[in-house]
Amino acid sequence: MKTIYDFNFENKKALIRVDFNVPLNENFEVKDSTRILSAKPTIIKILEDGGSCVLMSHLGRPKGIQEKFSLRHIVDTVEDVIGIEVIFVDNCVGEEVEEAVKKLEPGQIILLENLRFHPEEKEGEINFAKQLSRLGDIYVNDAFGTAHRAHASTTIVAQFFPKLKCFGILLAKEIECINKVMETGEKPITAILGGAKVSSKITIIKNILDKVDHIIIGGGMTFTFIKSQGGHIGNSLVEDDKLELAKEILSKAKAKNVQIHLPVDAVVADAFSNEANTQIVAINEIPNGWMGLDIGPETETKFAEVIANSKTILWNGPLGVFEMETFAKGTKALGNAIAQATKRGAFSLVGGGDSVAAVKQFGFQDKVSYVSTGGGAMLESLEGKTLPGIAAILEE
Ligand code: AMP
Repeated sequence: MKTIYDFNFENKKALIRVDFNVPLNENFEVKDSTRILSAKPTIIKILEDGGSCVLMSHLGRPKGIQEKFSLRHIVDTVEDVIGIEVIFVDNCVGEEVEEAVKKLEPGQIILLENLRFHPEEKEGEINFAKQLSRLGDIYVNDAFGTAHRAHASTTIVAQFFPKLKCFGILLAKEIECINKVMETGEKPITAILGGAKVSSKITIIKNILDKVDHIIIGGGMTFTFIKSQGGHIGNSLVEDDKLELAKEILSKAKAKNVQIHLPVDAVVADAFSNEANTQIVAINEIPNGWMGLDIGPETETKFAEVIANSKTILWNGPLGVFEMETFAKGTKALGNAIAQATKRGAFSLVGGGDSVAAVKQFGFQDKVSYVSTGGGAMLESLEGKTLPGIAAILEE
C-alpha cells in the first residue's frame, strides 16, 4: 500500500483529491472545518518536502454551475487551517487552469473550483479525468468520504499515474483502522449496530458474522428481531418483510458461534416526541399504543459488560432516538462504556452515518481510538466491498 511517505515531493506537483465537502451557513461561511483539518497533515508533508499542492474537491450536489456551491466560499477557511495563502482558480480543467498550475512554485497551494460543476465528474468520464491528470506529477487520494464512488477525480484519474499514485495520510489511516477491526482485530471483537432499519444494515451484519465474536443490536432495528421471536413490540418501528431474515440471522449467528445481544428492556413512549409520556418495560412486552425509542437500564448494564470484556470495538448507529434528550441516555451510556474500554487499551472505531453525529454531540470523539470521516464509504467497507477509489490506487 503506497502512501505519501513513499515519495519525495521535492519540485513535484501533487494532484490531491481531498474531501472539502464542508457544511456552509446561510452567509456561505464554513460551519465545521473538520474535513479541511483532516487533510492538513498530507498537505503539510508535501509542502515540507518542497512540493506544491493542487487541491480538488466537490461541494454539495450542484446542478451545473451554481455560485452557492462554489469552493471560493471556503478559501479563507482553508488558508486559516493550513496557515498559508491559497490560490483559487474558477474552474477545474482547461487551459487557464493548466497555465495557473504551470506557474505554481514549491510551497504553494492551488484550490480548483467544484469538480461537480462538470457532470463528467460523477459520470467518471475518461477524457475529463485525463484533463485533470495534466494538473499534477503525482496523484494523491486523501478523500475517504468519496472513495466508494467511481468518479473521475476519485478513481478514473488514477490510471493516468501508473506508479505515481498513493494514499494520503487520512485515507491510509481509515484503511488501517478498518483492517484493525475486520482483519487483524484482537479478540474478543464486538460490533455494535444501531440505527433505524434492519434493511440498511443487513449486508453489514452478514459480512461481519465471519469476523466478530459479539454483535450488539440496538435502535429501531431491535424490534424486527424481537417480533421475529414472538415478542410484543406495540407500535415500535418494524419491517414486517424482514422478519424471516431476522430469524435467519439469529440462527446463522448461532451456527457460527457469534453471540447476538438484543436489548432486554426499553424506554417506551406514547408518541414520537421529546415530551411524550414514557415508561420502562420488558423488550418483548411493549403495550399497544407505545413505541420503543431507547434501550432500558438493564440493557445498558448488560451491553456495558460485553463492551468491558472486548479488545476490539466497532460502533455504527445510535441505540435510540438520540436527537431527542429523553431518548439519548442509552446511546450516551454505550459511548461511555466504549470510552472506558478504550482507556483500558481496547481499540475502538466509530463510523458510518449518524454514529459520528452522536459521538460529536456527546463529546466522545477524543475518547475513542478513531472516528471515521466517511459515512457511506465506511458502511460499504463494513459490507466487505472493495471501494473503487482504494482499488484504483492499489492497481499497478
Ligand atoms: P441510521 O441512519 O440507520 O444509522 O439510523 C439513525 C437513526 O435511527 C437516528 O436518526 C435515530 O433517531 C433512529 N433511531 C434509533 N433508534 C430508534 C428507534 N428505537 N425507533 C426509531 N428510530 C430510531
